[in-house]
Amino acid sequence: HIDSQPAFLQNIEEQPMRERKIFMNRKKSFANLLKITCVMVCSCIGTQLVWADKTNSESITDTAMGTDCSVRVFGSDGTAKDIMDMLSDIENKYLSWRIEGSDIANINENASESEPVMPSKWTYSYLENVLDLARESSGAFDPTLGRVSQLWNLESDNPYIPSKSELTELLLETGWEKINLGEGEVFLKDGVQIDLGAVGKGIGCDEAQKMLEEADADAAVVSVGGSILTYGKKPDGKPWKIGIANPRNEDGESYLGSLTIDGTCSISTSGDYEKYVIEDGVRYHHILDPKTGYPADSGLISVTIVCDDGWLSDGLSTACFVLGYEDSLPLLETYQAEAVFVTEDKEVIVTDGLKDMFTLTDSSYEQVEE
Ligand code: ADP
Ligand code: MG
Repeated sequence: HIDSQPAFLQNIEEQPMRERKIFMNRKKSFANLLKITCVMVCSCIGTQLVWADKTNSESITDTAMGTDCSVRVFGSDGTAKDIMDMLSDIENKYLSWRIEGSDIANINENASESEPVMPSKWTYSYLENVLDLARESSGAFDPTLGRVSQLWNLESDNPYIPSKSELTELLLETGWEKINLGEGEVFLKDGVQIDLGAVGKGIGCDEAQKMLEEADADAAVVSVGGSILTYGKKPDGKPWKIGIANPRNEDGESYLGSLTIDGTCSISTSGDYEKYVIEDGVRYHHILDPKTGYPADSGLISVTIVCDDGWLSDGLSTACFVLGYEDSLPLLETYQAEAVFVTEDKEVIVTDGLKDMFTLTDSSYEQVEE
């Protein structure tokens, strides 16, 4: 049995699905509906639901990058849909190891130690960033775990628990140092496969930010699975309120707390509750310790990162989950990022820069000072 919950971090105030529910309820009464001047447009384009309201915002929800996504844009018509389309586009053209012809699939198939592959400049520059993070995190973030993840198969209904010897053998063909960058070129040691699954959603947020800047939008909130971009200031002047998922949810509380964010920011969460299987009382989840090939066991059940770049918040949330609380602190310092750690004892540790912005709401957790 496997549970997967695609979207964890949801913007509590701005979450479009909730807004849609309000709209549906009101729709029950026709007379009421006439009074609603706030709902100007509601049209279904494919599976995408697009609607606008009196705050001059447009919202879309859909699946992209294998997860639930929502985009809400204030003050720029059409940009929400353009962003949603872009998310699928970058997955297909550049990022996905699954999609034949994408930059990453092409590198995995054709690059070797002697014969490099030249991907798009776009992909190359994200690879540079990703390898910096791998180095700075001493390999806790490792973009070559593709084949190990595939063996675990935790995203499917048929996960597999490998033996230690299977993992030891596979690990011979992993390791970020086995990717070498030349001038715009990528070399790969034999058998190595690149997997950008731990940063793809954050990259989607970064590209969304570029589009919002170009479109001169007033404000926006973009959520791609566990990664969120808040952009600009909401027209009502209030800060963004971002929920942090309750990793255990035994008490029916969806959120353990929230972050109040003013302006443009990237927020990502990694947790052991996203894709996992429990066998003989052991929870096997999808964030792997590159040293062992087994799910990371650092005493944490979720990490939320807040920083300026989406790829970085996404990558750091994975890296810090592997490293654990203590070893994450120097890495956060290096990248000037802030974090909310949740331990398996249900303790919540918030770094100094976020203390004023974080509110604990679920009393089954305890906020502690370290
Ligand atoms: P999600 O993809 O659910 O948002 P993460 O951002 O934490 O979660 O990324 C987890 C994914 O990244 C895994 O599904 C796997 O493909 C890959 N991965 C797992 N462990 C690592 C790691 N230590 N370093 C880099 N990528 C990893
Ligand atoms: Mg991540």
